[in-house]
Amino acid sequence: MDAFLRGAKKAFGASAAPRVAVLGGGVSGCSAAHHLAALGCDVSLFEMGRGPGGRAGTRRSRSLPGLAVNHGAPTFDVRTDEGTAIMERLEAAGHAAEYVGVRGVLSAERGFSKSAASAVNWAGAGGSGMAGVSEGLLEEARKAGTPGSLACHYGAMVHALVPTMAAGGGGGGGGEVAGWSLVGADGSTLGATEDGAAPPPAPFDWLVVSGSGAAHPRWSEAFAGREAPLLAAASALRSEHGFEDEALTAALACIGAQEAAPCLVAMCAAAAGSETAAHWNAALPFDVAWVTEHPVVQKVSVQRDSSHPSGGDVSLVVHSTADYARSAPKDAYGVTSTAARLGGAPASAEREAALTAELLGALEELLRRHAGRFGLGELSCAAPYAEPLAWGPHLHRWGNCEPKGEPLYAGDAVAPRARVAFCGDYVLQEQGQKTNGKGKYVARMGSVEAALLSGATVAQAVAN
Ligand SMILES: Cc1cc2nc3c(=O)[nH]c(=O)nc-3n(C[C@H](O)[C@H](O)[C@H](O)COP(=O)(O)OP(=O)(O)OC[C@H]3O[C@@H](n4cnc5c(N)ncnc54)[C@H](O)[C@@H]3O)c2cc1C
Repeated sequence: MDAFLRGAKKAFGASAAPRVAVLGGGVSGCSAAHHLAALGCDVSLFEMGRGPGGRAGTRRSRSLPGLAVNHGAPTFDVRTDEGTAIMERLEAAGHAAEYVGVRGVLSAERGFSKSAASAVNWAGAGGSGMAGVSEGLLEEARKAGTPGSLACHYGAMVHALVPTMAAGGGGGGGGEVAGWSLVGADGSTLGATEDGAAPPPAPFDWLVVSGSGAAHPRWSEAFAGREAPLLAAASALRSEHGFEDEALTAALACIGAQEAAPCLVAMCAAAAGSETAAHWNAALPFDVAWVTEHPVVQKVSVQRDSSHPSGGDVSLVVHSTADYARSAPKDAYGVTSTAARLGGAPASAEREAALTAELLGALEELLRRHAGRFGLGELSCAAPYAEPLAWGPHLHRWGNCEPKGEPLYAGDAVAPRARVAFCGDYVLQEQGQKTNGKGKYVARMGSVEAALLSGATVAQAVAN
């Protein structure tokens, strides 16, 4: 049992448990929800996607029920004791497993070489894909015996955040925020209970913003010029209530100065037993390869369903470089993406098809350069296809694949007067964590591990 859970006790005794809204169901939001519930909070999580996972999520298809394509992180390394403790708990509960796939570097100049992992790598267990990690965090939080509670709302895109001021506060800048309401696309307050009862006017005592999107100016680039929900709320607090929380202002300034490295992902799947699946298996002697010295392709992930007796579906996921994604037209979010469906982010099916073909074609050309060496074969994944693919190809645009710049430190990620706290892969611990006897190590910005740890840390801060 890790230090967090040893310290976790029903913190709120006879007083009512704090009601906490967690905006976002990526790894950090799920970790925050998991740890907040363990500390006795009543948590409601709002995620615009169809399920949890975010950038460590898994695409599924109604037409192919067994398909699970990790279109964000395909696996992740964990180096800190705290991160390892969380992952081992998830592993023991059957939600995560050590990732043992073949990794390597595919150099555009020199071909392929295998590389040994320098830390334990993890992924979701069994057929759950990477989303299994986030799902597991939430499932554990719902188990009997958890001091708090958890309700998850999916397909719930938060369009606006509305603060309620404490009675007697307001004008003059001396007031305090008493709570937050979250508003959906149709203007209704989110968080209705399962029996359909309307939520109270200010249902939440605290707002935990996971991921940086809802607090970053880039939101308006994706969503037709609308201001990011938390930036709009902070402006309204100033202009309508004369309220400013310096901690919130400083955190928003830090987040706003961070840049986002984008990534385009082309993905497709070949059916179990098909010629294409056999061909891809032979041509690609790895599960994850980092591509170097290439202007278009950054990473290739081959996702094989090893639980299938005769070799299951094979998915091929090609990640672009940030430079390629930056220079690509912005009207290609993936026509089926949540950003396009719920947020009205621009999407063009034609542009999507062209970019997908370009990414897959770039991989094909790269492999052809080294075919016959390093175990690499020629690949036929770009149209016209020798036989129909089982799924795809599809495109997904990650506007913020990886945050860059100065991180927000955990100590600055809580604004108690505004009752807002932040978690995500852009939040780092102030001090390094000990890493299994190898000295101090701080989880790196833009990693699943940073997201996992920031959720645990923010939960402690809010519960305190
Ligand atoms: C292609 C790719 C490859 C990667 N490879 C690796 C890797 O190899 N190793 C590694 O460690 N990391 C990798 N990463 C990074 C890793 O996936 C992230 O660091 C981590 O998943 C971030 O989790 P998060 O919770 O901070 O953010 P997110 O996963 O972005 O979660 C934020 C969530 O909030 C939701 N949301 C945002 N705004 C709203 C709103 N207004 N209303 C409702 N919901 C909202 C989003 O839908 C999202 O689910 C990769 C990422 C990508 C994209």
